[in-house]
Amino acid sequence: MAGKLIDGKAIAKSMREQLKSRVAKLKKQGVTPGLAVILVGDDPASHSYVRAKERACENVGIYSDDNRVDAGITQQELLEMIEDKNNDPKINGILVQLPLPEHIDETAVLLAISPEKDVDGFHPINIGKMVAGKKSFLPCTPHGVVQMLLHSDVTLEGADVVIVGRSNIVGKPLANMLIQKAPTGNATVTVCHTRTKKLSEHTHRADIVIAAAGKPNTVTADMIKSGTVVIDVGVNRIDDTSRERGYRLVGDVDFEKVKEKASMITPVPGGVGPMTITMLLYNTVESAESFSAKT
Ligand code: NAP
Repeated sequence: MAGKLIDGKAIAKSMREQLKSRVAKLKKQGVTPGLAVILVGDDPASHSYVRAKERACENVGIYSDDNRVDAGITQQELLEMIEDKNNDPKINGILVQLPLPEHIDETAVLLAISPEKDVDGFHPINIGKMVAGKKSFLPCTPHGVVQMLLHSDVTLEGADVVIVGRSNIVGKPLANMLIQKAPTGNATVTVCHTRTKKLSEHTHRADIVIAAAGKPNTVTADMIKSGTVVIDVGVNRIDDTSRERGYRLVGDVDFEKVKEKASMITPVPGGVGPMTITMLLYNTVESAESFSAKT
């Protein structure tokens, strides 16, 4: 029997409705949450991602401060721009779209963002707080995955979770969130990567498999036991001449076959993607609320 689809779009929509009410309440107090987005250069994928973020902000009533800058901007100019946003009371969150051109040091840029406005959750202070289980901005994609599991009533406590991928933006923070001594954690987590021996031995004993490898078919049906919950973070373009644009998007999981064995599964697109942007909006609203409480 095919597994139940975890509908990321529907979960994201219901979370955004809640955010709309929180934004309306803030506006009554004279505070409009503001998100500054800085996009350097003209990478088409980054542009389309940033446009989606801007539309999402508009949808929930967040002010979107759009800054599209030429790829030739110097590091110093970019750092000054960030400092302006740090000091601007209309801005509650700052997002610098990655990747950056090679002449700009990504770490210097991430360090320049005030931890209080770091709605991507990439500043070392926020990462440190997350690891220590303190309140902080949580990175959006892994936080979105945790929220999807919670909204789908998946039991995390005591669950064996296998994450495929150890990147700083997905695998590592997700593992940290899921091992916290908290209702949103309490899982037993294994993190796999390209040096893992016998990946399928790990995935086979997992109650929950989360694929974040960036390679199609990394998780196939023979690698999981029946009833596994499967979350597919991957987004990969594969050639498809039947589509006008010449490609289609697939995840890291062999969806058609795995869905026959899984108890629940996320599609690509329409799974983790919509949750990532929703958690960015969530962090921006949280930031505006804490700003409002201080003033
Ligand atoms: P990344 O930085 O390239 O990391 C990929 C990780 O997967 C690495 O740790 C790598 O291991 C591991 N890996 C790759 N192939 C593997 C294999 N065959 N077996 C085991 N481990 C393997 O990628 P990322 O930034 O984390 O992103 C992962 C995927 O998620 C990408 O497709 C990306 O587009 C997608 N993504 C989606 C969203 C969203 O909102 N939907 C957000 C972020 C990312 P090593 O460390 O050993 O190299």
